[in-house]
Amino acid sequence: MSNFIIPISDKSKNLQPSGIRRFFDLLEEQKNTPNTGKPVISLGIGEPDFLTAWHTRDAGIYSLEKGYTKYTPNAGLTALRNEATAYMERRFNLTYNPKTEVLVTVGGSEALDLCVRAIVNPGDEVIIPQPSFVAYAPAVELAGGIPVPIETKSEDLFKLTPEQLRNVITPKTKILVLPFPCNPTGGIMEQEDYIELEKILKDTNIVLLSDEIYAELTYGQKHFSPANIPSLKERTLIVGGLSKSHAMTGWRIGFAYGPSELISQMTKIHQYAIMSAPTTSQYAAIDALRDGDEDILRMHDEYDRRRRLLIDGLARLGLQCFDARGAFYLFPCIRSTELSSEDFCMRLINEENLAVIPGNAFGVGGEGFVRMCYAVSADSLREALVRIEHFLKRL
Ligand code: PMP
Repeated sequence: MSNFIIPISDKSKNLQPSGIRRFFDLLEEQKNTPNTGKPVISLGIGEPDFLTAWHTRDAGIYSLEKGYTKYTPNAGLTALRNEATAYMERRFNLTYNPKTEVLVTVGGSEALDLCVRAIVNPGDEVIIPQPSFVAYAPAVELAGGIPVPIETKSEDLFKLTPEQLRNVITPKTKILVLPFPCNPTGGIMEQEDYIELEKILKDTNIVLLSDEIYAELTYGQKHFSPANIPSLKERTLIVGGLSKSHAMTGWRIGFAYGPSELISQMTKIHQYAIMSAPTTSQYAAIDALRDGDEDILRMHDEYDRRRRLLIDGLARLGLQCFDARGAFYLFPCIRSTELSSEDFCMRLINEENLAVIPGNAFGVGGEGFVRMCYAVSADSLREALVRIEHFLKRL
């Protein structure tokens, strides 16, 4: 036997595996050993059930036929950066210089990581409203920074309030993550909310890392970005991407939009770590941004119908649920069942073959809630509601 032990860094060792992953593993086991005979329904995965529009897939295929199989410029194809900035102008009224203020990344995930790595020194603090996407805190830890969670509350519609923000800012705060529209709560922030935050932020040196991957998925009102407030734009880095809006998770295309000084630092790291985003995907992305607005709206309207179906269904079952206006998740409170979030989810999967994610996987404030993703067919949602009803009756 050799004595060789692979050396692992403390940072890697200390990273906790995602709570979502644990439930997917359980789901896999469940698929292999079905107990109730019912097919598994998953409201667990946070990705569109739609396929990428055919014209966009075709654009990717066509680029291969033309032999576009090499690296692109580090920051992304010029034509793609031009389309991306035209899209931001058209859809969100935000102007960026395609040469200096946008970077094409490998999904929104890479853009988040690059922003943190470009800004954070060891010991710096990053404020993270939670419950929220599981990748923010690990990115901060890997950069040697300290995540500072703030618990958003259902009674505040899961918004970040000015008082909460004021209480956690220190001289070491470098970034405020703005995870809106929010995965998993479905919460959004509106113009007046950002106007209040601006009053606190204006005398600080804090960068806003605004994760707007769900910007196209708001219901009943249009998305508002902190960068829509002129005095906040210079300190805002927007994370965008095609994964959710254009049903393109597997293509791995994201964007960072922000001040040129920050984009150029992020581009340096991207250049060494990644080189350039996948070439075929970039060609498909040009098509998606140029010709995909109708696809966005079609999927949006379908999500909205499903959202209402699930909200109404949960209300009928007596599970209290905040009227989520963003993304494609609902975050019902399950305290009335007197089960913990994990027990609720474990039992639902074991007894009803229905997967939802425990709220505590998303950080502070998640206990007592579960995340249900409604990016599945309306029939699956109706069947899921029947199963939840059976489950609740047995408790
Ligand atoms: N931000 C949020 C809030 C997300 O939910 C996700 C994906 N679940 C991402 C970023 C990452 O998206 P991408 O596939 O573009 O890397």
